[in-house]
Amino acid sequence: MKFSCLLSLSTFLLSALSLHAEELTCSHGQLKPPQSGPDSGVRRYAPDCRADLLHLALDVTPDFKNRAVSGRATITFKPVGSPLEELSLDGIDLEVSAVESTAKLQGYQATHDKVILTFEQALAVDSEQTVTITYRATPKDGFYFRTPEQGYREGETQLYTQGETILARNWFPLLDSPNGKLTTEVTCRLPDGMKAWSNGRLLSQEKDAATGLTAWHWKQEKPHSAYLISLVAGQFSVIEDHYKDLPIAFMVPPSDAAMARKSFADTKDMLAFFEQELDYPFPWEKYHQIVVRDFRWGGMENTSISTLSDRILQTGDYETLRSSVSVVGHELAHQWFGNVVTCKDWSTLWLNEGFATYYDALYQEHLYGHEQFLYERLRAADSLTGEQNPRPVVFRKINADGYDQFGALSYQKGSWVLQMLRSELGPDLFRKVIQTYLKRYQFRNVVTENLVSVLEEVTGRSWDRFFDQWIYHGGHPELAVDYAWDEKSGTARVNLSQTQKISDEVLQFHLPVKVRFKGKFGTIDKVFLLEDLAQDFHVALPSAPKIVRIDPDVGLLATIHFSPPRELLNAQLDDDSDPLGRVLAVRQLGEDPRADGVGRLLKILSGDGRWFVRAEAAKALGKIGTGPAFATLGQCLEQADARVRKAVVDALGSDIRDESLDLLLKHLSSEKNPDIRGAILQALSHHPKKSSGAKLVEALESNSLRDHLFGSAVAAMRMSDDPSYAAPLFDAIRKRQGELESQSLGRALAALAYLSRNQTDKNEVFDFLLKQLESPRTPVADGAATALGDLADLRSRPVLITLANRDNEAAKNALNDLAEGVKPAAAIVGLQDEVSKLQKSNSEMKTQLETLTKRMEAVLNRPKK
Ligand SMILES: [Zn+2]
Repeated sequence: MKFSCLLSLSTFLLSALSLHAEELTCSHGQLKPPQSGPDSGVRRYAPDCRADLLHLALDVTPDFKNRAVSGRATITFKPVGSPLEELSLDGIDLEVSAVESTAKLQGYQATHDKVILTFEQALAVDSEQTVTITYRATPKDGFYFRTPEQGYREGETQLYTQGETILARNWFPLLDSPNGKLTTEVTCRLPDGMKAWSNGRLLSQEKDAATGLTAWHWKQEKPHSAYLISLVAGQFSVIEDHYKDLPIAFMVPPSDAAMARKSFADTKDMLAFFEQELDYPFPWEKYHQIVVRDFRWGGMENTSISTLSDRILQTGDYETLRSSVSVVGHELAHQWFGNVVTCKDWSTLWLNEGFATYYDALYQEHLYGHEQFLYERLRAADSLTGEQNPRPVVFRKINADGYDQFGALSYQKGSWVLQMLRSELGPDLFRKVIQTYLKRYQFRNVVTENLVSVLEEVTGRSWDRFFDQWIYHGGHPELAVDYAWDEKSGTARVNLSQTQKISDEVLQFHLPVKVRFKGKFGTIDKVFLLEDLAQDFHVALPSAPKIVRIDPDVGLLATIHFSPPRELLNAQLDDDSDPLGRVLAVRQLGEDPRADGVGRLLKILSGDGRWFVRAEAAKALGKIGTGPAFATLGQCLEQADARVRKAVVDALGSDIRDESLDLLLKHLSSEKNPDIRGAILQALSHHPKKSSGAKLVEALESNSLRDHLFGSAVAAMRMSDDPSYAAPLFDAIRKRQGELESQSLGRALAALAYLSRNQTDKNEVFDFLLKQLESPRTPVADGAATALGDLADLRSRPVLITLANRDNEAAKNALNDLAEGVKPAAAIVGLQDEVSKLQKSNSEMKTQLETLTKRMEAVLNRPKK
């Protein structure tokens, strides 16, 4: 599963530059758990499987009008271990009307979350049995309708399901846990004009004369886990294609058809890459990718049929800033990792998500080259090592739905663990390990020890320590590096020390650290084994190295503190063969406000051959933050690569001076890329100038893909916290509520409430939000609930409590916000004073810094005596 962000300002940026924003954001309309908060206090384990479920045949008729479903679930199973008296299945609020069984039933009961069948006599071990449950459900989750009655476009009616983690039980009864695999078939009965897709292959499509409905019958022949069962139906545009003999297809809402081909263009190349890399043909009967409306995630890897958010569809306007490659690649990689081999329970989710994340990255290495791949590893490491997270990757104290495992540890750290293994083993041996693991455990459930045993078998080495420190314990090494050259003995000394706080959760690491020396003698690599807290390593070299690089191939998940002397740093900046070295050197320049650094960064920003080195130069100039640095950025706004242009705009946007604002406004008039226009609008939020306010209000009228510019203006208004925006925003919402996408409208409601929270008369906004709570579009209703929390009006409490009692997450959060937000007016006035003071002192500090820089430059440039 891949996450999309429903709240983030930069909604779902898929570019290499913003990969992390996309992967680390949120779901369910709330921030995605960072996997670092408090644990649940309860250790979770995979449930018993007293019955081995062999096959499920599901026959459903959706009721689009009442947003309900009638179904018949036929389950074939065998008791395991001991005779079975009762078959207890998961099922949420299923209205069961009949149960048939091959064994005599004593009775059945359907509770709030179970369907329990009791047999007259205990069923013998291994005796194959079949039960058929007839039921009706009105699912609150896991089964979603998108109909014109709910405000969705005519001719684009949809219904789709989502199983992961434990949502399948909302629309059919089954043992709903990953640790059980079965073959499945889904029949869906639909009116004319609609089609249905499900796992496996289409067996038949037959119209029933009596009902007028067509039965679409799909069958999945190889076993998979319940959470991977999917049904999508409705009105879609279909593009059919094939890869070798494999049928592939893309389904999109008809009004998005023009964007489909470009967005899925790489699918065949990805299939070829994964098949070769894994030495394992695509495992399923077909591969479909279906784009749906208001999907709460970025994508979901249902077996042979991935569901994708409409936000992955791209137009050319975004240039290099957006691409669907990452989501398409991630879900496709899951067809092997997650679907063929499946984590036994959510505690070992990294075996699904870490692998899908890493194999998407490997495909991108194939597509964009090794250097960009290393740069992306570095950026993933940046996001992981920002702070020590003591929680281990394999973790049991999670919530009952396992949802808190879907965070940076399972995805990015899991992926980084594979990067370290591949760095240490080399690509060939690594490939052999993974290929063996995949074949050995195909169509089975896995735990980390299965991978360890294959690693040990294939490499002949013990991997217990590696997994103990990286998977079963938390944190990462923080390395301090000290380097010196001894001319007399002709040796380089490298001192490595581990400075992370060592505890029961974070171990002292045992690490191979590669160090690269470059000089007249060429390139010499040494691998030092760091076993102690601090160690000295000596290397004899033919002459003093010109460049010293620590972990040059980005093979260690660690923070590395190394500041080479300026001479070495300059050589590193000039090293054409090492873009990663240039990135690190550029970052060091960003920490140093000396003028020659700004000059060097200008040279890089205007001429380096790699887009990411140029983008890092822009970021470094923004970090230096002096007048000359911003002036340099201003000179460099014309960049052919949109990723660099956006980096320049972002850096300039951090400046609070009018000069930068004027440059950005001027650029806005000619810039065509919606992402960059959005970034400029957001930068306007901290410029309380008339011209910037007018631009934001103007953008409320704009039309752009997924309301991107409207959303940027709303976000900027919210960030500015300027109540004068409330009135124009309210006008725009009332005027455009019918045409805005659900998520845009939901966020706009929350911003409106936030900006109106200190008004004396909130009646009109309050009444409007109450009405929006009844919206049939869930993201809008959730946005209204969130807004009622932000409005800080105690009249919202009763209605929010009612919704919270119905398990509405948005209402639960809103109640907390409401309690926080209702504060004495005096405190708010006090806060505003504080902010004004801080703004003033910030501006003074900038001036002081510039003066100081000039004085420092004067001292440094003074001729030596
Ligand atoms: Zn995933």
